[in-house]
Amino acid sequence: DNITIPRRIKPLDQDVVNKIAAGEIIVAPVHALKELMENAVDAGSTSVEVLVKDGGLKLLQITDNGCGIDKEDLPILCERFTTSKLQTFEDLQTIATYGFRGEALASISHIAHLTVTTKTRDSNCAWRAYYDSGKLVPAKPGQSPDPKPVAGRQGTQITVEDLFYNVPTRRRAFRSPSDEYNKIIDMVGRYAIHCSNVAFSCKKHGESSTSIAVQASASCLDRIRQIYGGSVANELTEFSTSDDRWAFKANGLATNANYSTKKTTVLLFINHRCVESSNIRKAIEQTYSAFLPKNGHPFVYLSLEIDPRRVDVNVHPTKREVNFLNEDEIIQAICEHIRSKLAAVDASRTFVTQT
Ligand code: ADP
Ligand code: MG
Repeated sequence: DNITIPRRIKPLDQDVVNKIAAGEIIVAPVHALKELMENAVDAGSTSVEVLVKDGGLKLLQITDNGCGIDKEDLPILCERFTTSKLQTFEDLQTIATYGFRGEALASISHIAHLTVTTKTRDSNCAWRAYYDSGKLVPAKPGQSPDPKPVAGRQGTQITVEDLFYNVPTRRRAFRSPSDEYNKIIDMVGRYAIHCSNVAFSCKKHGESSTSIAVQASASCLDRIRQIYGGSVANELTEFSTSDDRWAFKANGLATNANYSTKKTTVLLFINHRCVESSNIRKAIEQTYSAFLPKNGHPFVYLSLEIDPRRVDVNVHPTKREVNFLNEDEIIQAICEHIRSKLAAVDASRTFVTQT
């Protein structure tokens, strides 16, 4: 018989717990970037600049002009579950900010070298702090870990270096820095399109030209034109629909039947979070199949706002997906609306469609 003696159960070291959690929240450089961009937007920034080296594995730097962080908060900034955004569990029902768990900076500090430089409006200088595993550490061995005064403008600059340096299996999983950079550009592009009144830029370290550059004043259509090009932007139709029964509002821009490409692009924001939904993607593809040639696919930017009490944002460690009530009804209503828009544009086309 296969009788074995159970091994004793012991609690894991706090440091091990934190590293495991970090690896769930930050799977790839783009996840760190997303958290840091969301923090910048939460801080009321009107400018977010991203600098990347080696697909974010060597360097990921986000500079914003938001409210900054109080010097007094710097000692606990990177501890797990420290946040300025959530107080009670019930607050999750009405949360309007991207962040809520106070886990992003903590996680990053466990798996990378993290430097924070920040200045609030009321401080007469900026402060720079270095972190390791949740705690302030000195810039160089032997120095004090206390934040140092430095010159700087209002806002926050977060520098993440050598991501996954102490998680060798994860580090080795990244074969191609350029794949990681493409994911980063994609994510910056999504937020750049959604966050009106915020300027975004993204560039590779050592290159003078930017991969993405949009002005704060650019319209949503301008932003799509700059990031996805004129062939998409010239064929977009605006849509907007809502239904009180399901407590939702949806608006966005969708390509018309003149446009078709190899792969569907859905830029989906639910209550201003960039998320994925295979159900929404499938329904959109289904809707367009009646209008596009076989193997033709659309581009859709969809901003969906749902009563926060009906949305569960806390279902995925990377916050990639959210759950909401009446999903089927809401998706159907949106797709029905898009279908009517497509039909209207289709009917007004002056040329004869091929059969
Ligand atoms: P969360 O966003 O869930 O609160 P984070 O670990 O991402 O958790 O951030 C912790 C706290 O640090 C935030 O609540 C916020 O007060 C502060 N913070 C982080 N990034 C910025 C930033 N770019 N500007 C101003 N404050 C920031
Ligand atoms: Mg955050």
